[in-house]
Amino acid sequence: MQAITYERAGDIAGALRAAQQPGTMFIGGGTNLLDLMKGGVENPVHLVDITRIRSLDSIDTLPDGGLRIGALVRNSDAANHALIRTRYPLLSQALLAGASPQLRNMATVGGNLMQRTRCGYFYDTAFDQCNKRNLGSGCAAIGGHNRMHAILGASPQCIAVNPSDMSVALAALDATVRVDGPQGERTIAFDQFHRLPGDRPDLDTTLAPGELITAVDLPPPLFADHSHYLKIRDRASYAFALVSVAAALQMDGRTVKQARIALGGVAHKPWRASAAEQMLAGHELGEGTLREAATAALRDAQPQTSNRFKVQLAQRAIVRTINLAANPAAVRTGGVA
Ligand code: SF4
Repeated sequence: MQAITYERAGDIAGALRAAQQPGTMFIGGGTNLLDLMKGGVENPVHLVDITRIRSLDSIDTLPDGGLRIGALVRNSDAANHALIRTRYPLLSQALLAGASPQLRNMATVGGNLMQRTRCGYFYDTAFDQCNKRNLGSGCAAIGGHNRMHAILGASPQCIAVNPSDMSVALAALDATVRVDGPQGERTIAFDQFHRLPGDRPDLDTTLAPGELITAVDLPPPLFADHSHYLKIRDRASYAFALVSVAAALQMDGRTVKQARIALGGVAHKPWRASAAEQMLAGHELGEGTLREAATAALRDAQPQTSNRFKVQLAQRAIVRTINLAANPAAVRTGGVA
């Protein structure tokens, strides 16, 4: 058994100081990290508990009309916050689609960004082959059980997917991640925060060693009237997405002024469907346009042996989600095919 030391930080400066010790990890809600530690996947030698840093636990409006969500805000508190429900309903929906009520009550916004893939080979240390756990060992999922794995942006080193629902909505909303660390404060555009696996699948994010997420900033709300998050999963509750879609639209009648579309369950990071967004912008929504956009979004898909179904599933999910975003009344009545 490996000995672990533990300390509780009272402020950001204290947390960053403590993290200078090699082998340190920050712990917030612990809903993912403790599982990983119990399974021997993560083996920190020092834990810095950041849950008492009050400055990280608030939701505040920004001068430009946007919103700052502290890294320690619980997922359930964010999902049910009046400003998020009314100005960023897409984010509220995505948060409520994730995990279970008990987990959402514990999990933090910062921790949600840092959760690791649910690839079964990654979690089970009995399998030797996992480049994410042990760089250079191989990838057991390639040619193995890969029904849940990536169809976009994968590499020969890793085909895992990012499991976060919240992050899919944040990608569509063009959020910004605020971090503090040994080199000071900086911001990271959301699309640059999570990585594709490439030849370093052990790295999930672009955080530098010792950096701490302090908040997520949302730009002024443009899409509150027309957005929707759709999660398709094997069972109705507490399951990770086979495919999910976050769609946010600005509409002028039936014409799309601008569109933001992100996919979950398909890649190592939340996947922005930029080609589909461009095809929709300036066009009237119709079945032909929607199908063309959905086809464009999956044009580069490279499915694995057991997840070819995800390509068509994602295309259909895109069409349905955009229809639901464009027709919010239909969500209430169940009237969109
Ligand atoms: Fe490991 Fe990634 Fe392969 Fe899963 S897909 S076994 S996480 S290298």
